[in-house]
Amino acid sequence: MKRLGINLCSLSTLLLLFWAPEAKAWGCKGHQTVAYLAEKHLTPEAKQMFEALLTENPVDPQLKRYCGNAVTNVFADAATWADDERTKAPKTAPWHFIDIPLGATRDQVKESCGTAGCVTEAIRDQLRILEDKTASAADRAQALRFIIHFVGDLHQPLHAVTNSDRGGNCVPVEYFRRIPHPIGGSYTPNLHAIWDTDMVERDMEGASPADFAGTLDAQFKSSEAKWIKEGIELEAWAWEGHQFAASTSYGAFAVKIAVEPNVAVEKCTDDNNIGDRMLKLHEAAGEAYQNAAAPVFEERLAEAGVRLAMILNEAAKTHP
Ligand SMILES: [Zn+2]
Repeated sequence: MKRLGINLCSLSTLLLLFWAPEAKAWGCKGHQTVAYLAEKHLTPEAKQMFEALLTENPVDPQLKRYCGNAVTNVFADAATWADDERTKAPKTAPWHFIDIPLGATRDQVKESCGTAGCVTEAIRDQLRILEDKTASAADRAQALRFIIHFVGDLHQPLHAVTNSDRGGNCVPVEYFRRIPHPIGGSYTPNLHAIWDTDMVERDMEGASPADFAGTLDAQFKSSEAKWIKEGIELEAWAWEGHQFAASTSYGAFAVKIAVEPNVAVEKCTDDNNIGDRMLKLHEAAGEAYQNAAAPVFEERLAEAGVRLAMILNEAAKTHP
């Protein structure tokens, strides 16, 4: 027993050492919240059509589900699938974000989509498959799962920015009492991860994603008509996210982060060791930072939900 315990322990240490924590974009609960919120805004036709498509074409039961496989709502379950798929299909990794360099202007949004693709292009590509009457039901279900996830990702501010720091993954941050330490080529906590997961979950105060979706839907009721009127504008949504990243994700720190030269970064040791240089800034996110960020990510989650519903309601009309 003892030996087994030790072996398991060293195995998990090994896994921790070699497992690079990747940008997930909204953790499980954030993505599920977006899906629950969208479901409230689906037309009865869209809801019925897409619920059936997902139910009749389930996720591969062999696939390891990072967020667990006990989620009973098909839309909430679909919302986190693309992050699991990414570990199997690395070519889909760039589809989760758009690297608009910090300090860019609005006209640089389109050119920020790299040759390997980006989130705005991926949403368009998957919509084409979802609306294709000749595509198989399995392919359309997969496209739907990608769209549900990517519209969420597009609204995470750190998925529409990079400061040659892998979208904030290379920016170590002290989060309340947690001191950053290196892990798998990145750091925990880091700027990207606290926006994906930690700040959202703290803000949820233990609520379920379904309940949190209800809270946000009520909170942003007065803005929703405006978002719907503005229509489906993927580049504009990316730019909004980018601006929130500049003003708040990077901008709300007491110690200012300078705009880096825009260089390709694979690892936190690139860009003249960006990770180590950021570590030396001792960035801290506590009560003040959390309070500055909450109105931003609450709005982004609500917008993502309402806009996802707009896209799916349109698609349901196109594909009778
Ligand atoms: Zn993602």
